[in-house]
Amino acid sequence: MADSKQMPPAKRTNLGAQLKPFAEQGELRLQQCLSCQQFVYPPREVCGHCLSGELSWEACPAEGQVLARVDLHNSFEPFYAEQLPWVLLSVKLDAGPVVYAHSSSHAGLEDSGLEVEALEIESKANSGDRVTLSLQLDEAEAPVFVAQPLK
Ligand SMILES: [Zn+2]
Repeated sequence: MADSKQMPPAKRTNLGAQLKPFAEQGELRLQQCLSCQQFVYPPREVCGHCLSGELSWEACPAEGQVLARVDLHNSFEPFYAEQLPWVLLSVKLDAGPVVYAHSSSHAGLEDSGLEVEALEIESKANSGDRVTLSLQLDEAEAPVFVAQPLK
């Protein structure tokens, strides 16, 4: 429904919440290990590659490849339930990490309040497609990844 007051879930871990100021600025930043230089996601206390505790939030190259696409046709979350089907993508960034992202053509992310049209659904990224990732705030002011197909 276009006039819904429902909000997407906003809970994040303490480390995940640290993405918010970058989302506010439209900057894609992830933790990067100062020891082995690997980008790390999801956010954690130590590097998953070398166990160094020296992680810093750094600008991350935004391009990657869609590993899988899931079209949600059912959700217990009222926000999503009103806007089904909702497309989620797993994206392997060229920089290494795999992130879960919303599709760029979703209502509430690109054109707030608009209903998703069937034709838009068909035009979204699929497995193998190249995408560019951005970090944005959703309607609940929580940081989320959004994938935009590359042409
Ligand atoms: Zn490391």
